Amino acid sequence: MEYCSRCVMPDTRPYTIFSKDGVCQACLNYETKKRVNWAERWAELEHLCSKYRRTDGYYDCVIAVSGGKDSHFLTWVMKEKMGMNPLLICVADPFTKTDAGKHNLRNLGDTFGCDIIDFNLSVDLFRRVTKIAFEERGEPLRFIEAAIYTVPHKLAVALNIPLIVFGENAAYEYGTTTEEGYSTKKYIETGDSGAAKGLGKEIYDFWLNRGISMKEMNAIIPPTQEELERVKPEPIFMSYFVPWDDETNYQIAKRYGFRDLVHEWRREGTIEDHAQIDSVSYIVHLWMKYPKFGFSRTTDIASRWIRSNKITREEAIKLVMKYDHRLDRRAMEDFLTFMGYKPRQFYDIVEQFWNREIFEKVDGVWRLKNPLWKLENPASNLSLPVFVDLKETT
Ligand SMILES: [Zn+2]
Repeated sequence: MEYCSRCVMPDTRPYTIFSKDGVCQACLNYETKKRVNWAERWAELEHLCSKYRRTDGYYDCVIAVSGGKDSHFLTWVMKEKMGMNPLLICVADPFTKTDAGKHNLRNLGDTFGCDIIDFNLSVDLFRRVTKIAFEERGEPLRFIEAAIYTVPHKLAVALNIPLIVFGENAAYEYGTTTEEGYSTKKYIETGDSGAAKGLGKEIYDFWLNRGISMKEMNAIIPPTQEELERVKPEPIFMSYFVPWDDETNYQIAKRYGFRDLVHEWRREGTIEDHAQIDSVSYIVHLWMKYPKFGFSRTTDIASRWIRSNKITREEAIKLVMKYDHRLDRRAMEDFLTFMGYKPRQFYDIVEQFWNREIFEKVDGVWRLKNPLWKLENPASNLSLPVFVDLKETT
């Protein structure tokens, strides 16, 4: 397990790319973005909008939203800055909503004066696909993460609204691709990156072989070729057109009434209170990267903060050491209640996912063999038990 020499990202991230001198692609992409002429990109967005803007009162774009800070930012750009008439489409997991999450989705429509379609996947189906994906892949939200891309795309096509706006090109921002473009088509149609999880034949076969019927896969089946040819959809990533920055999005969202979790819940395992806050259980999905790849949410956020000069690498290493391994108790309990697992069953399932190449079990506790802080300082005696909840809970 090697780490990027600039940020704290390990090379265990799936599809990750490292340069010869040990710098991750996310850091290199960040450098490339510094040289972008943002005025030109903004003009490109204006040009695109003018192609689709309507004056007859009908919606002229769809925005895929969750209600979070990025949704506020996207709606602000499209409605306030571009003067578009967006229809917002929300696809969210049906776990318990946080108070902030409930407030934010409502606020989004209210503050910008937009109509929202709130698409709710069958809870029964969600529970079954989540169970399959969690137990077999350690990736509970595999199904709904595909639906989050497919449903807005499909509804937009059905409603004859070609321009479809998504937020961040996660594959580019997280450095699993070197290609930057604004079109999300590739991700929606082939699902070949981390941004949208596998569509196409293999994914249907995966679910069909596990007892999910074709009828139940509506939310992850993309529009037909005939529909695509008729509407010619233009799905775009906003992160191509504007310098995408969590902090900027957060500040703009707050100005329009977005609520963070500061007064509600201090989550373990992460270092901020304003991202992925819509549902209580969601961060269990994020945490599952930890046993599989040896890093989790704190690594993602701290690496972004290093790139944008908010913290030093030394500070980031301390944060990673302190928080990255932690699974939030409240999130876990909500997940257990929703899914009907006992804590013991949950940990038995997780047990199979600990990556034996990078973790070792010492006195019943999993520890990273070569954590970042040891690689940086071989004399360090610190050997944090990375996962202590096991004993407390079972
Ligand atoms: Zn890096």
